[in-house]
Amino acid sequence: MNHMNTGLVAWRRPFNFSPGPSVLPEEVLRQAANDMLDWNGCGMGVMEMSHRSNEFISIYEQAVSDLRTLLEVPDEFHILFLQGGGIGENAIAPLNLSQAGVVDFVLTGSWSKKSRSEAGKYVHAARVAASSEPAGFTDIPSASAWRVSTDAAYVHICSNETIEGVQFPELPDLAALGSRAPLVVDCSSDIASRPLDWSRVGMVFAGAQKNLGPAGLTLVFVREELLGRALSICPSAFDYELVARHQSMYNTPPTWGIYLVGLMAQWMLRQREGHLTGVPALRARNERQASKLYAAIDASGLYENKVQPAVRSRMNVPFFLADERRETAFLDGAAQRGLLQLRGHSSVGGMRASLYNAMTDEGVDALVAYLRDFERREG
Ligand SMILES: *Cc1c(COP(=O)(O)O)cnc(C)c1O
Repeated sequence: MNHMNTGLVAWRRPFNFSPGPSVLPEEVLRQAANDMLDWNGCGMGVMEMSHRSNEFISIYEQAVSDLRTLLEVPDEFHILFLQGGGIGENAIAPLNLSQAGVVDFVLTGSWSKKSRSEAGKYVHAARVAASSEPAGFTDIPSASAWRVSTDAAYVHICSNETIEGVQFPELPDLAALGSRAPLVVDCSSDIASRPLDWSRVGMVFAGAQKNLGPAGLTLVFVREELLGRALSICPSAFDYELVARHQSMYNTPPTWGIYLVGLMAQWMLRQREGHLTGVPALRARNERQASKLYAAIDASGLYENKVQPAVRSRMNVPFFLADERRETAFLDGAAQRGLLQLRGHSSVGGMRASLYNAMTDEGVDALVAYLRDFERREG
């Protein structure tokens, strides 16, 4: 494949199934390229502006306001822009919310497992309320069977396990389980792919680089009432209360990332599917794409997805070949057709197609056609 941009031959973008950092809409990238040297006629690029300049403050305020509209974030939640990624939050969340007490984790895959071991450094006890590890992380333990500690400072879940391809169909209602603990949700790989029930949530975090923009920016949505609980050892730059009181500018925030997430929020607000707009439109599009891909996998004798259908991720679709020695041939053939970054996570192997918000129907159709062709040739 030769995707050289010669200026003479029309250049077509390949279809990028990366798990993250992942594909961004061409429209957004072109806008960013256009603004690179001169944002809005001010003579400076966004990367060159003081975060305290009027220009950047306007970018920041627009981004916060568009995110609030897009995700329907209630007023009692602060929207914070931090650094450190999802893995950083594995430490930052317990430093802010655990009061060094007991925290409960629901283990549904590699990410929630990792979150628990990291939290263990800062809390008195990082307990397992439920785990699907014995089932190879192919299912989600039913909430009615969770053992939530009566003294839990919070309960942590990962709404979408990016590696295993397991997703909560909806957020659990801890109050209905008799718990008053706030729910903390790692939404790194499914934020903005579907509406979020904020009434069930205390804090949500997400690295931007999957559904929202570039790496280097972490979004935190936290209830006002949960501020001011940080341990004294919590670094100031990661103290939610301090960051909230300084409009995410206690220290220099990742300005480029905030600008790009702002462009992405506007792009997402513009998306339409029939009578739907914004996140509901993105969800409809994504559901259509994921159903098509799972149907193709299920219909074949060559490919397999091992996750229980009710909890299959609509964002990350892992699949395995009956004969794993054919993986290289599969991936090479895919790349020749412009289907990129389909290799599964090294810890589980196989393949994985990530269907984040910027994935097009055309991309999924091309992948499904390739799955059929490869099976016909190799099957
Ligand atoms: C990617 C990912 C992370 C890790 O994010 P980093 O930005 O690399 O720290 C954490 N949780 C989930 C669910 C992820 O998909």
